[in-house]
Amino acid sequence: MKPLLIAGNWKSNKGIAEAKEWVRQFNAKCQMLNAKWDHITVVLCVPFTLVYPLKREISQLRLPVQLGAQDVSPFGEGAYTGEVSATQIKELADWVIIGHSERRKYFGETDEVLMQKVAQAKAAGLKIIFCVPDDKTPIPADVDVAAYEPVWAIGTGYADTPENAATVIATLKQKFSIRQVLYGGSVTAENVVSFVAQPAIDGVLPGGASLDAAKFFDLLTAAQSIP
Ligand code: PEP
Repeated sequence: MKPLLIAGNWKSNKGIAEAKEWVRQFNAKCQMLNAKWDHITVVLCVPFTLVYPLKREISQLRLPVQLGAQDVSPFGEGAYTGEVSATQIKELADWVIIGHSERRKYFGETDEVLMQKVAQAKAAGLKIIFCVPDDKTPIPADVDVAAYEPVWAIGTGYADTPENAATVIATLKQKFSIRQVLYGGSVTAENVVSFVAQPAIDGVLPGGASLDAAKFFDLLTAAQSIP
């Protein structure tokens, strides 16, 4: 079976009670259907405020879910008010998303700042999911996983075609010598198979479809079905 990475991105959604309820519902589904994601690494990238409460819930229930942050400071620890450093994240989570198009667009993050973030994350031992909107945007050398996310497909309900996503991803792999590349942009339980069935695509990064525990569970179940 092809190993897959499926990383949900909650963006700036949910408070602690809602996050706990998500885990309760997700766990109930897993128990009821005796679910095991043998070849799928499942990651949830959540707001900083939720990382600690979710870590506790997930470890108590022994859920096969790893945690990630959605951003990281370009600096180390120190006088950088409002920032969360890579070493602080690493105490609680294993993954971090860097370069999401919403950070590029709303927070003006440049390739230079993103390189600094990658360097900090790498030095702290975080695994990096680096997002790019096309096959022209550079992917730094230290990145573990990239995600091709066309801006027009994010949160719109209009996903790229699996064929085009696979072509862009194959180009990214060749150009930047990166082994694992995900597709993101309106991925759902209904269309996930069409993406992960493409040999070049190593997983998906769903935003909206990760907010609902049952929908996310269904998406994982569908992805699990590919040979
Ligand atoms: C995302 O959060 O990166 C994303 C692709 O969102 P959505 O799945 O809602 O389009």
